[in-house]
Amino acid sequence: METFEQRYTAMMDAIHRYVPNTDLDAVERAVRYANEQHVDQKRKDGSPYIIHPLAVAEIVAEIGLDTDAIVGALLHDCIEDTTASFDEISRLFGQTVAELVEGVTKLTRVEFSTQEEQQVENLRKMFMAMSKDIRVVLIKICDRLHNQRTMEYQSRAKQVSKSTETMDIYAPLAHRLGMQKIKWELEDSALQYLDPEGYRELVDYLAAHRAEAEVFMKNIQTCISERLTGAGIQCTISGRIKHVYSIYRKMKEQHKTLEELYDLYAFRVIVGSISDCYNVLGHIHEMFKLVPGRFKDYISTPKPNGYQSLHTTVIGDEGVPFEVQIRTREMHETAEYGVAAHWKYKEGIASGNEKEFEWIRRLLEDQQETEAEDYIHSLKVDMFDDEVFVFSPRGKVISLPAGSTPIDFAYAIHSGVGNSMIGAKINNRIASYDLQLHNGDIVEILTSKSARGPSRDWLNIVKSNQARSKIKQWFKREKREENIARGKTSFEGELRRMNLSPNLLQDNELQPVLLKKISFDCLDDMYAAIGYGGITAAKVVSKIREDLLKASRSPAAPRETKVLEISQPIRQTGLGEAGVIVEDIDSCKIKFSRCCTPVPGDEIVGFITKGYGVSIHRRDCPNARAANNPDLAARWVRVSWITGGENPFPTTLEVLAEDRDNLLLDVAAALSTQQINMREINGKHLPGNRCQFIVTFEVKGLSHLNNVMNRLRGIEGVVDVKRGQN
Ligand code: MN
Repeated sequence: METFEQRYTAMMDAIHRYVPNTDLDAVERAVRYANEQHVDQKRKDGSPYIIHPLAVAEIVAEIGLDTDAIVGALLHDCIEDTTASFDEISRLFGQTVAELVEGVTKLTRVEFSTQEEQQVENLRKMFMAMSKDIRVVLIKICDRLHNQRTMEYQSRAKQVSKSTETMDIYAPLAHRLGMQKIKWELEDSALQYLDPEGYRELVDYLAAHRAEAEVFMKNIQTCISERLTGAGIQCTISGRIKHVYSIYRKMKEQHKTLEELYDLYAFRVIVGSISDCYNVLGHIHEMFKLVPGRFKDYISTPKPNGYQSLHTTVIGDEGVPFEVQIRTREMHETAEYGVAAHWKYKEGIASGNEKEFEWIRRLLEDQQETEAEDYIHSLKVDMFDDEVFVFSPRGKVISLPAGSTPIDFAYAIHSGVGNSMIGAKINNRIASYDLQLHNGDIVEILTSKSARGPSRDWLNIVKSNQARSKIKQWFKREKREENIARGKTSFEGELRRMNLSPNLLQDNELQPVLLKKISFDCLDDMYAAIGYGGITAAKVVSKIREDLLKASRSPAAPRETKVLEISQPIRQTGLGEAGVIVEDIDSCKIKFSRCCTPVPGDEIVGFITKGYGVSIHRRDCPNARAANNPDLAARWVRVSWITGGENPFPTTLEVLAEDRDNLLLDVAAALSTQQINMREINGKHLPGNRCQFIVTFEVKGLSHLNNVMNRLRGIEGVVDVKRGQN
């Protein structure tokens, strides 16, 4: 069992070694204070509790953090486990230390383990969001590292749940913060509890082969070292077997046994300058056989977490492959300790230094995202201050906009939950609807089948667009259903007054004709309009009375199918935005269909697209011929070109040709003489030495297009040129 003295000495050694400018008085006071606070507590192995904070402070010192962080580490379990309070710590050790301790305490109180893959990223974000000072995360990672090191004394269930959390949350965070060394240890330790057999097998294998591995590594090191010394390059070389979890993962991913696994060994060459890195690389590649495709230059292109190094894999004389990593001393420190290494070079990284936080934020996010991101936006102290992460009672993480309330939460779960909400609990206490949620809150929504639904006030309370639109939808739909019911009653009453059966409307052939006459998409829309008072039932019935009468007398009467041959002249009122007039519609969105890409001069028809507007097709487009389908008939409208429009129109041609040299060149040259704007050209080979080009470009109109087509037809080898029909 470890004694206080052993641990204390080890911690002080680390402090002297890695953080020589530490305020030792503050450290001494913190050790005394923590010791008094924890005096009655024992660890699972029976040792005094103070061993744990001392060990965590030692790791914090090893990674080079400052006095506040070391003191914070010594006190990190005080608020949670003893009678110490934020105020007392603040008074004795300063506000910063108190905030660090409080931050670590908050993280300790949240259970971050989850079974669900897609939740993990949110949990990591929540973890970060809860820690306003990056040192909180670093202390917590060190805390977890020591917990993993002493995990053997925990129950089996606890070992598994903690190790899962370590694998899901802590190791990836250590990785993103660039702390390789800690990440490896966390992973190896967690693996030991998550797959004890797999872990043991690997460790035993490596142990059994240790002697030969050491001989091998020694030979390679000597070999490289002699060569580089001969070339006058100062360097340090070390060899290692890759860490257990990385070997384990590769075996799983590549379905390989240990014997088949590619490279187990990694050598590190540390030199004084970047130019030496590349010199060493040259020597390595001369000495050993290169494995193609394995060279990576992370010096010129660092990894998102700031990692820099040259990597190459080569094969030695004995046919054993191994990796060589070449980097400078400074790159090495960053690789080992990541974010923490920056404390060594820059003071005052902690709070308020926005540039540093920007850098950390960048580490944590997807690289591409950051590149696209507005630079100013990323210069924020708070890393995720526009999001809040809360739990459902079952431990699901929900991410909401900052300032969100239980109502937002309810609608994020399901609109049904929001609509039947009658109350909420936050952290097991009844809470008001409009209370702001905080990171890590556990939120429970109380619902009832007899709930009256959302209130209009909620629209002013909610923060998420999702909740707002779902509430609006509810009002619209509630009203709509009422309106439809009311409209239907009054419409059917009107029909009966005229001795007409409402059943006539259900006729599959008659219904679309009637709907077109009264300009509605469906019966419900019509009922809703009547119910709402937008139109009277009498007026609607008067428009379709003749048809209904005719139908009731001879149900089999032939109906009109050629809806496109409408005899009325086109009214010039409806100027479409894109050079097209739509009959009877004052203004609407126009879209040119991509299946037939019409250009001015083509005969065209319009099709009313639900929720969009009118899409324009060529009259000979196969899709337009579907006009004869009675179900769709009501949605086809007459359209015509506005003359004198100067906008270019995109269109597509298919060119079929006998393949030959320079064919594409000739096609491109022909197009370039026609003053068109090229958008895209794609070619493919067809059987029988033929090929096809799909050319998309902009033209002014049909005559312009015809000129282009004629020009293409004149090219040697071209067999056919036709308009695109996708
Ligand atoms: Mn702890």
